[in-house]
Amino acid sequence: MRWPRARLWTKLLLSHSVAVLVGVVTLFVAASALGPDLFAGRMAHLMGNGMGAMMGSARGVTAAMESDLNAAFQASLTQALVVAALAAALVAVVVSAFVARQIVHPIEQMLHATRRIAAGHYAERVPIAAANAGDELARLAESFNEMASSLEQAERRRLELVGDVAHELRTPIATLEGYLEGLLDGVIEPSTETWARLHDEAGRLRRLVDDLQELSRVEARQVSLAVRPIAPSAVVEAAISRLGTSFEDKGLALRTKVPPSLPKVLADPDRSVQILTNLLGNALRYTPSGGTVDVTAEVADGAVTFHVQDTGIGFAPELRDRLFERFYRVDKSRSRALGGSGIGLTIAKALVEAMGGRIWAESAGPGRGSRFSFTLPRAGS
Ligand code: ADP
Repeated sequence: MRWPRARLWTKLLLSHSVAVLVGVVTLFVAASALGPDLFAGRMAHLMGNGMGAMMGSARGVTAAMESDLNAAFQASLTQALVVAALAAALVAVVVSAFVARQIVHPIEQMLHATRRIAAGHYAERVPIAAANAGDELARLAESFNEMASSLEQAERRRLELVGDVAHELRTPIATLEGYLEGLLDGVIEPSTETWARLHDEAGRLRRLVDDLQELSRVEARQVSLAVRPIAPSAVVEAAISRLGTSFEDKGLALRTKVPPSLPKVLADPDRSVQILTNLLGNALRYTPSGGTVDVTAEVADGAVTFHVQDTGIGFAPELRDRLFERFYRVDKSRSRALGGSGIGLTIAKALVEAMGGRIWAESAGPGRGSRFSFTLPRAGS
C-alpha cells in the first residue's frame, strides 16, 4: 500500500511549497510597490544636488532621462524578481521534498514494524535516526520499541508457561496411565489401595490445575484485593488455625512471638493469611519430625515483617531467589512426593508484591533450616 506515504509526503510538500509561494508573492508585490518610488526619490535627490545645478537650463532633457531610467529600473526589477522567484521555488521544492522524506520515512518504518509485530515477529524494532535524536519522532520510536519489547517478554513468558505446564502435567498423567494400563492388563490388583492411589493422583492433578489458575489470575493482576487495616496477630492466628493439628501430628514444635503492640498492617486479610499459611505449610513439609517452627513479626521501616523460621532441610543460599520462580523445586521428586506443585511461593510473591510488600528466603545451607520472610505495609504510614 503506497497511499499513506504518498498522502503525508504530498501534504508536507504542498504545505512547504504554499508557504514559500506566499512568501515569494509578498516579496514580489512589496518590491514592485516600493521599489520604483524609492528609486524615483533617490534620483530626484541626485538631480537636485548635482546635475540640477550644472544643467539648470536643460530641465526638459533631464525629465525625459528620468522617465527612461524609471522604466529601465522597473523592467530590471521585475526581471530580477521573476528569476529569483523561480530559483526560490525550485530550491524550496527540492528542500521540502527532502524534509518531508525525513519525516515520512521513520513513520513508514514504524508502520512496517507494527505490521511485522501483528504478524507475530516480536523481535522487530524501529531504528532511531541520529537526525531525529530527541525529537517527537525519536520519542515515538523509543516508546514503540519499549512496547515491542514488553510484548516480546509477555510472549516469551506465555510460551514458557505453556511448556512448563505441559511438563508438569505429564508426570501425574503418566502415573495415572500406568495404573490404568496395569489394571486393564490384570497386572495390578483392583484393590482399595489401588483406587486410593488413583484418587491421590487425580487429587494432585486437580491441585496443580487449581494452583495454575490462581497463578494466572495473580500474574494477570486479576485478583481483587480487599485491603483494610488488620492486626498482625490476627493474620498469624488465622494461618495457624487453618493448619489445625498438622504440626502436632508430625511431631513439630510451633512457637509464635507476635507482640500485641505491633501496629496494624494495610492488607487484604484473606490473602495475607493465604501467604502465611503457604509459608507455614512449606515449613511443615520440609522440616523433619522433632524440629521447630517459629513464627514472629516485627515492625521495621514503615512495614511489619513476618518471619517463618524452621529447623528443616534448608537450601543452598545461592538458590534463594530461584525458589520463587514458577515450578522451581530444589528436589523435584521429594517435593512432588510431599504434594508440592512448585508454584506456592510464586503465588505468595505475586500476592505480597500486589499488596506493596516484598518476600525473601534465607538459609545457612542444606540441612541447616531456613527462614522465609515477607513485609506488609503498616496501616497509616
Ligand atoms: P512446593 O509446592 O514444591 O513446596 P513452593 O513454591 O512452595 O513449591 O516452594 C518451592 C521450593 O522451595 C520447594 O520445592 C522447596 O525446594 C523450597 N522450599 C520452600 N519452602 C522451604 C522450606 N521451608 N525449607 C526448605 N526448602 C523450602
